[in-house]
Amino acid sequence: MGNDGGSIPDRRDLVKNKPKAEQADKANQIRALWFFCALSKRALQEPVVSCALGKLYNKDALIEYLLDKSAYGDGEEICGHIRSLKDVKTLKLTPRSPPPSPGSDVAKFVCPLNLKEMNGAYPFVYIHTCGCVFSQSGLRTVIGSTPTSKSLSNDEDSGVVNEQLDVCPQCATKFSRTTDVITVNPSKEEEERMQTVMELRRSREPVKSKSKKRKANAEGAVEDKSAVAKKMKESTNNSHSPSPALVINPAVAAGSKALASSLLAEEAKRKAGMSDAVKSLYRSKFDKPKKETFTTMGTFTRVSP
Ligand SMILES: [Zn+2]
Repeated sequence: MGNDGGSIPDRRDLVKNKPKAEQADKANQIRALWFFCALSKRALQEPVVSCALGKLYNKDALIEYLLDKSAYGDGEEICGHIRSLKDVKTLKLTPRSPPPSPGSDVAKFVCPLNLKEMNGAYPFVYIHTCGCVFSQSGLRTVIGSTPTSKSLSNDEDSGVVNEQLDVCPQCATKFSRTTDVITVNPSKEEEERMQTVMELRRSREPVKSKSKKRKANAEGAVEDKSAVAKKMKESTNNSHSPSPALVINPAVAAGSKALASSLLAEEAKRKAGMSDAVKSLYRSKFDKPKKETFTTMGTFTRVSP
């Protein structure tokens, strides 16, 4: 009654096929995370680096991105949180033996402790101080999942957090199990937690020394391509006087910051090496209205041949 059967094959098809499609999709996502560079989407190839969020990247792709933030379309979205190579760790991975044939679905890397394959089926971690990569279960087996009894008894009486460092089972580097064990390809929830930890740690970073700051400012004048382009657009729209960033050749701005800063350094050197005659030329030509300040006097005295 009512169940005439007409719709039953359709429903069965849906029930059967939808989970299959979802499964295939999930398998592809896992492959993408564990076998491929999160940035270039190329197969992971050593040297492999990882960030504070446990993503895996080919180091060459990441360097490419740091030199040119537009090298990958969605680069900013994927690794906008990576400011320099200091924000990533080169991983010490254990290759599977024998190595899988190219393009196969077998993991390239394994846990050195229990040989579990790094294929997304098991949680993996890396140690931030040395970069060694282990399966979570392998590392737990070796270092234990609770703090050592010694540190526990110490802490209970004094109330002081006096954490005892663990030792990497592969290379003996010391690490803290509470802050130095980074989950590789974490779940969404864990990634959010890791993001919070990263932001908290960065907010506590000491301000860089003065010389570094000055260098950063010099680099900041170059900025990245998009920012310069934006400024150019703004200045043409508003016909402002050109900002310092525009004085620099756009071709230089488009290049790497490293290149730009080395050019700036060269320019400074060149100026420093100028003869007094040239200097006076410069002065008469450009500095006429300005009085020589104490700083410039000092500079010229110091560098005069
Ligand atoms: Zn290690």
